[in-house]
Amino acid sequence: MCGVVGLWTRREAGARLVEGLLALQHRGQDSAGVLTSDGTFHLKKGNGTVARVFNPKNIARLAGNNGIGQVRYPTIGPGSVEDAQPFYVNHPFGIAMVHNGNVTNYADLRRKLMCEDFRQLTSFSDVEPILNVFAEELDRTDLNAFGPASVFRAVEGVFRRVKGAYSVVALIHKRGLLAFRDPHGLRPLVFAQQGQEFAFASESVAFDLLGLRRFSDVKAGEAVFVDCRSRVHRRQVRQATPRPCIFEYVYFARPDSVIDGIGVYEARLRLGERLAVEVARQGVKPDVIIPVPDTARAAASSLASTLGVELREGLIKNRYIARTFIMHGQERRALSVRQKLNPVRSQVQGKDVMLIDDSVVRGTTSCEIVQMVRDAGARKVFLAITAPPLRCPCVYGIDMMTRGEFVAKDRTVEQVRKVVGADALVYQTYEGLVAAVRGDSAIPGFCTACFNGQYPTGVTKRYLAQMERERKRWL
Ligand code: SF4
Repeated sequence: MCGVVGLWTRREAGARLVEGLLALQHRGQDSAGVLTSDGTFHLKKGNGTVARVFNPKNIARLAGNNGIGQVRYPTIGPGSVEDAQPFYVNHPFGIAMVHNGNVTNYADLRRKLMCEDFRQLTSFSDVEPILNVFAEELDRTDLNAFGPASVFRAVEGVFRRVKGAYSVVALIHKRGLLAFRDPHGLRPLVFAQQGQEFAFASESVAFDLLGLRRFSDVKAGEAVFVDCRSRVHRRQVRQATPRPCIFEYVYFARPDSVIDGIGVYEARLRLGERLAVEVARQGVKPDVIIPVPDTARAAASSLASTLGVELREGLIKNRYIARTFIMHGQERRALSVRQKLNPVRSQVQGKDVMLIDDSVVRGTTSCEIVQMVRDAGARKVFLAITAPPLRCPCVYGIDMMTRGEFVAKDRTVEQVRKVVGADALVYQTYEGLVAAVRGDSAIPGFCTACFNGQYPTGVTKRYLAQMERERKRWL
């Protein structure tokens, strides 16, 4: 999972792109990069957070009125600086690119590009194959007659050859700014336009920071091209059934974002209301509801008001510790849970406490939190989860790619309850999840593969096994 931004404006773009990335920092903390153009490409990228990579001096060197940027969250590969985005190729025109997602035919694409097309790939980043495929496809068009039609034809070639999840923003030197979203629209991508300013971002929250109010989603299979005269060209390049990632609403996206017309905060409120029905159905009766900060807050508040139970901030977060889910290595994650969260004794002592969390992946966090609340004097500790059990790997860019990582993989809910040490464990139902996230939107469906194994792009057992091997290699 990564965050991308793109900007086409009449003002200096460098500092604003960095600001956009700051708003998307939750989507990746491993590396950050920005490329701008003033007739020449200017690139700064490195490992670490946005604040670590950028400073006033190097931002000043990012000259030009347009550019792209990315924060990375690696799922495959060594996570070295060579994998930091943006990447660029010199021909045709000079094309720079960033992406968010995961290419599922990466190995085949890479081999073909290097061994048959004799292109040089310098990293393990899967934006490099997308970039090279796009460059090849664009090169096949009449470059003297370059225009939106050539761009859309090249995107069509990408859709034909590249499988998986990818939301892409690309800068074509002196020609324009392009964005496209894979045919299932698995990863989010939004487009804002205000006067002579045009921007793309993974989440609408980046536009709030940039002062852009009007935005729309780049649709699944759609490409949007802002040409050098600031004219916008949109085309539905491939017709497919949209299947945006439902986990964005559950956990990953910021609550102040709107994705595919659905407010993330509102979706989480509805998740809480649905979960309350399940809690009541199972006859679990807490004295107090406590959210596990930060993602579960909205759901906990609506769950508490639906059940008529007090809501308390009984777990305090040390905000200077990175998100545990994003950190690599089991031990690092376990240690960081205790560093990150601490219970408020007065709010849990002698009470039947219900903790609300968004998901249980490996069980590390849940186990630690349940125990720390018990140690702080709670009489009973119940755990309610706003999503159903996670059981299948994500092959589309979220860091849970081996079945072995899931505590719920071959366990019943009762067995998971015992593992995490809770007095009761209540999961959201699958139907509740989909209905809550959908709300009254017209979206036909979501990717829910990590809950039910139904991968929108189709994934073979061989691929999943290969993924597990790769994943273990880089852990
Ligand atoms: S498998 Fe899960 S996390 Fe991955 S894209 Fe689908 S819904 Fe999202």
